This record gives sequence, C-alpha cells and structure tokens, in this order.
Amino acid sequence: MAVTIYLHWTATGYDWIRPGHYHSIISGDGVIYRLHSYNVDLPAHTWRRNSNSIALSCACMGGMPDPWTVPPTDAQLKSLCFEAASVAREWGWSAEQINLNRVMTHAEAASNRDGRIMHDNYGPVIWGGSGERWDLLQLAQNSTIDGGDQLRYWIREFLENPDEKQAVEERLTFQGFTVIKAKGSDLAVQIDQEGRSWARLVDLLERYEIAHVWDAESKRILIGALDVAPTFRDDALQASIGWQLIDVALQTRTAPIILRGILRPSEGGDRAWCRVVEFAEEFGIPFALIHWNLANGVEAEAADSERRAVTVTRADAYNRLDWGNKDLAISDLSGASGITDSGHNVFDEVVFDNNLYLELL
Ligand SMILES: [Zn+2]
Repeated sequence: MAVTIYLHWTATGYDWIRPGHYHSIISGDGVIYRLHSYNVDLPAHTWRRNSNSIALSCACMGGMPDPWTVPPTDAQLKSLCFEAASVAREWGWSAEQINLNRVMTHAEAASNRDGRIMHDNYGPVIWGGSGERWDLLQLAQNSTIDGGDQLRYWIREFLENPDEKQAVEERLTFQGFTVIKAKGSDLAVQIDQEGRSWARLVDLLERYEIAHVWDAESKRILIGALDVAPTFRDDALQASIGWQLIDVALQTRTAPIILRGILRPSEGGDRAWCRVVEFAEEFGIPFALIHWNLANGVEAEAADSERRAVTVTRADAYNRLDWGNKDLAISDLSGASGITDSGHNVFDEVVFDNNLYLELL
C-alpha cells in the first residue's frame, strides 16, 4: 500500500516547532520546517495509522478557550499543500492519485473516511465521531466541512503546475568561487546573490571528519555523529529558493533533520551544497570573520560596524580586485549605498558579504 500523507494542526500557537510529533510543521507565516526524514515512521501522530505514513502539520488552533482565535493562516495552508505536492512529486504520484486513500486530514482519518476501519470513530461529531480530533475539517471558522477536499484540490494544482519557469527565474543564483580557511587549510566556496558562502557538503564533512553516508535513493545524507542536537532556524532553506532541497539527518530511528542543503548539477552528477555558516552553527564549529589582504598590499577594512565584510563587484576572480580600480582602498563605509576609495571616488556597486572573510576554526 502506498504511503499515506496525514494533514494536521497542532492545537498550539503559530510558532510551535518541535521534533518527535510530525515530520514537518509549518509555522503561521508559512515557513516549512522539515523535522524528520519522510522515509521513517514516527510513533504518535495519527492513531493506529502511524506506520507507512507521514504527518504534516500546521502550527495553529491553540486559542483558549476558542481555538479559532488562532486559525490556520492562508500562507500556512498554501505551504502545507505545496509541501504535500513536493513530497508527492518526489514519490512519483500523479494528480489523480491525490485522493482520500493517500492524502487525508486527521479529521477524515479519525472517522475512517477512507473505508479502512482502523479504530473507533474519534473524529468530528458531524461524522458520528466522539469529536476528539477534527483537524482541518474546516479551513476557517463557520466555513464548509470539506477542508480535506479543498486541500487535496490545491495539492493537485501545485503538483500539476509546479511553475517551473517561475521557480527557475526566481532561483537563487551564485557568483564566482572564492576560498576560505577551514580547519587551517583552504576550502573552495561559492558566494550567492545574497553574499553568503556555500560549500559542498561532502567537503565540509570530510574536512571535519564527520561520519556520513549518502543515501542516494532518498537523496539525503545521514550523519553518524550522535552528539549533534537539531536546532530550528528562522532561515531554514525553503523550496522557494528554486533548487531541489536535500536533507541532512541523524542516523537514528526517527532521523531528525539537522540541516538542509540543495542539489546542484555538475559534470560528475548532482552535488549537495549547504551554507557554510549554517553548517558551522549546526555542528558547533566556531568561526570568525577575518581581515582580507587584497592584492598590491592594499588591505580592505573587512568588516563594518555590523561586522559585514565588503567586496567590490566585478572583482578579479583571483584577487577579488578590479584592475580598473587597483588603487582602491576602502576608507569609508557609508552603509549600503556605497564605499569611497582613497581617491574619493564613490563605488555604488558594493556587495555586502556576511561570510566572505569567513574562517572556520
Ligand atoms: Zn492531528
């Protein structure tokens, strides 16, 4: 039997993000937190239906005494359907297969609406149940009781129209390669359009001698180190980044996810990349921003008051200094609007770089 996707709400506030309960939780602002790999079972999301299934949940409906004072948000429901569609796509499901047998709300599951009689009816009273669980019976207060049908409709829509073109156009782009120090020696990294450093995950894992295996079938990396505790970051990578995401999970029964990366094509096949700072934070590796000696003995002031490093766009790939501006010395940082060189020429095109002068210890 195919895996079943169960859709829930958490009966909490909008920011309740905890591992152990659901595979993914979506916060009120629509950010998706993947907490456990989708190919492991979790013990207790949907009674008698916890094997061969996954659970996606919206953090909401925790209002007291009226749960509807914390209703599911539009962004949240959209992300819920988007995530379900992403999973369905990964598993090769077609739009017709998004039906009651594969995708159910907890309200529907609790009332055995799929005809599998798994347990007593503890679903909505209106379906003859005890009223104990009614997740997503309605998507808004006083609305129709076809929440499951509405959600499946949107999952089909997202599955059929992933809007590839838009995704590619809005995809995070990368600039040239540069080199940072990691554990005392050079490591090639690439800077994205936001000025953040990315490295190949395997390079980082090998550099820090972290035991890992690449699970090609489910496109994830399993980490042997058990002393790593998952943390939940507001900047968790989202599908809107436009690249296929991959999970980095601990090699335990519930495979908690500690980090997400992206898959980028290369001549030798797809390679997993991650943000360097996120990797360092997750694995407890100290890092520092350091000054950078530009070519020709010119030293750039590497960090402004917000500890952001600065570099000049169209810089030479080797020494990151445009030869046209080779007398450039950064003498003044005037916010994001530009920098002034020693000849008092203002350069508008400045890339503020959080990580370029990064050194991992
Ligand atoms: Zn539930």
